[in-house]
Amino acid sequence: MTREMSLIPVAEPLLGEKELAYVSDCVKSGWVSSKGKYVAQFEQAFAAYCGCRYGVATFNGTIALHLLLAALNIGPGDEVIVPTLTFVATANAVTYTGAKPIFVDSEPETWCIDPAAVAQALTPATKAIIPVHLYGHPADMDPLLELARRHNLIVIEDAAEAHGATYKGQPVGSRGHAAMFSFMGNKIITTGEGGIVVTNDQALAERCFFLENHARQPENPYWHLEVGFNYRMTNLQAALGLAQLEQIEDFVAHRRRVARHYLARLHNVPGLTMPPTADWAGNVYWMFAPLIGPEFGPNRDQVMVELREKGIETRPFFSPVHTMPMYNTGQNLSVAEGLSRQGINLPSSATLTPEQIDYICDTLIGLCASSS
Ligand SMILES: *Cc1c(COP(=O)(O)O)cnc(C)c1O
Repeated sequence: MTREMSLIPVAEPLLGEKELAYVSDCVKSGWVSSKGKYVAQFEQAFAAYCGCRYGVATFNGTIALHLLLAALNIGPGDEVIVPTLTFVATANAVTYTGAKPIFVDSEPETWCIDPAAVAQALTPATKAIIPVHLYGHPADMDPLLELARRHNLIVIEDAAEAHGATYKGQPVGSRGHAAMFSFMGNKIITTGEGGIVVTNDQALAERCFFLENHARQPENPYWHLEVGFNYRMTNLQAALGLAQLEQIEDFVAHRRRVARHYLARLHNVPGLTMPPTADWAGNVYWMFAPLIGPEFGPNRDQVMVELREKGIETRPFFSPVHTMPMYNTGQNLSVAEGLSRQGINLPSSATLTPEQIDYICDTLIGLCASSS
């Protein structure tokens, strides 16, 4: 167990005095539930951070996406296009509504959803596209927005992994019709668990707020006309979130410093492919995510075992969701499948030090067949 405890973690939050002060304020004042000043403050400040007018905070990111789809009246008979290479929540949120997730491949240039594959997957039942900004790199939004314009579709950004990333100079979350973020403990900022919907569409924001409060009408709070949810964020979560948000520039800068350090040390190692960054992208490197190809020697899974022996925690890339038992579509989505087999997440925490990065790089380079 002590060995486990001393692993360099893939991701851990950095929490300090400010978090303690704001959370203590909630406890001392008794405002620990979803009423309290921090929720609205956090919603406004986070929305503004990503260039949006409205934010509706939720208990986690998965339900933020469900809330958004429900508020957009997406349901049975509808199809929603998602990348297969993502965390399973993207597809599950679609399934919760009764709509069908349609899986498409990644593009080699960004590892995010391939707009050409999206164009081919459109049917008369298609209602929405959910690009995912994978590991902190924005998806190519303009071709998706153009498709959406032509076919009258909604574009929802799954920005759970990309707080602070930019697309052609604009913050992610502000380009589509709406977006969601996650504040789970391993994300760039955290509220413990948490999420938010952001949008510039006032009617949509109001509809999300209404549905997440059990479709409550302020003038008649115990008489409900439709089935809503209790998806609200607590004041405790929002207090933590506000403290984190006040430091987000530092957290993002740290992520980018970590990535530059890894890139400098690893870009020439035979068999390693560095994560791409498109020229239009402001990558925030939520996870530093290289590929381990055949030329490296040991394969990805062997490398993970070896690194763990040396005290370094890593994660494999997400598995393509279309291959999981509950979806299992039998499609051949070869770019995503290849990335998923070779990809590894190296430690990328807010707490990671340059000495640790050097240790991780030395250890990894030592495993490369041509280094001995
Ligand atoms: C983390 C994550 C989510 C879900 O967020 P939770 O807050 O964990 O529910 C959704 N999509 C992606 C791509 C994620 O990485």
